[in-house]
Amino acid sequence: MEIEKIKQLEKQHIMQTYGRFPIVLDHGIGPYVYCKEGKKYLDFISGIACVPCGHGNKEIAKAISEQAKKLVQVSNLYYTEPQVKLAEKLSKLSGLEKCFFCNSGTEANEAAIKLTKKVTKKKEFIAFEGSFHGRTTASLAATWKAKYKKPFEPLSPNVKFVKYNDIKALEKAITKDTAAVIIEPIQGEAGIIVPDKGYLKKVEELCNKNNILLIVDEVQSGNGRTGKFFAYLHENIKPDIVTLAKGLANGLPIGVCIAKKGIDFDKGNHASTFGGNNLCCAAALATIDYIEENNLMENAEKVGNYFMKELGKLKHNIIKKVKGKGLMIGVELKQNKAKEIVDKCLEKGLLINNATENIIRFLPPLIITKKEVDECTKILDEVIKEC
Ligand code: PLP
Repeated sequence: MEIEKIKQLEKQHIMQTYGRFPIVLDHGIGPYVYCKEGKKYLDFISGIACVPCGHGNKEIAKAISEQAKKLVQVSNLYYTEPQVKLAEKLSKLSGLEKCFFCNSGTEANEAAIKLTKKVTKKKEFIAFEGSFHGRTTASLAATWKAKYKKPFEPLSPNVKFVKYNDIKALEKAITKDTAAVIIEPIQGEAGIIVPDKGYLKKVEELCNKNNILLIVDEVQSGNGRTGKFFAYLHENIKPDIVTLAKGLANGLPIGVCIAKKGIDFDKGNHASTFGGNNLCCAAALATIDYIEENNLMENAEKVGNYFMKELGKLKHNIIKKVKGKGLMIGVELKQNKAKEIVDKCLEKGLLINNATENIIRFLPPLIITKKEVDECTKILDEVIKEC
């Protein structure tokens, strides 16, 4: 189909919720994606952190294909092996006990919020300025940006927002009605905000002291991206509930809410028709195997450190700060030129995005090497010079 025809059909038949870049992507291999006409792009956003093991990954494709031929979906009316295997694996990786499977990040947070209400019998939540937890109504209530929420108010549950990385602000906000604190260990959509070392530990201590649940949203930071499978593991904390999605099945839709021993739904409390289906669970198991067997967490840390060092060497007045952990990286600008830079990078064959007007975000697949980092920084350097 012609590119113009695709754009016209999108406008005519797809609800206009997305501002899209003007290219039509067709296939990919490793850290690269290609247009139908063959133009190659270095993909340093990887479906917004959804493809940790790279595009066209043969091992994962094989696992998906074998499962697709065997059984795709039978609902949760029956037991299935890939689901229990994945739950066991995620429980081990998180240090928690039980999983509820769904299909996306917002659903994982929706489950966490319902679970919290059910076990605490309280209704108030604390979230953070800059937070992003999703677009369904409870997750949206815990999301910071007014622009996302305004048309859909009133939203439930009641959420109080406090300054991120400020333990005193959190302490002040806690009341006897607080059910849980929901936090990203590194804020993604806010522009890669890494809290001070020790902050998450203090959040955990405050929650424990006040008998409040701690929900850690690992939807963007999880799946090995920061050098450990979950970013909270760097701080040696044990949340009550963890949510995960995005890269868990290397691009297939899956989400999960994982909880500590004793935090559980009762039969009929919650459900998802597709949640934990055979195909996505088989893909997730293959993804985790691939991450572990190919040392992608170590690679994320090593190549991430190199990437941040190389970005730090770019000598441009407009760059204020390079920040991040592993392969979750942001470049903060002194001016609101992130979109202009991202657009020009696209023209030169590099896919990145702007988290805010002044923050460029990099979420490459975890398979990248120093060679691809050099390719990316070279393009970025040229583009910033031109801007
Ligand atoms: N939580 C975090 C931290 C996210 O970054 C996102 C998406 O960007 C979500 C939740 C929502 O995930 P989804 O778009 O899969 O619903």
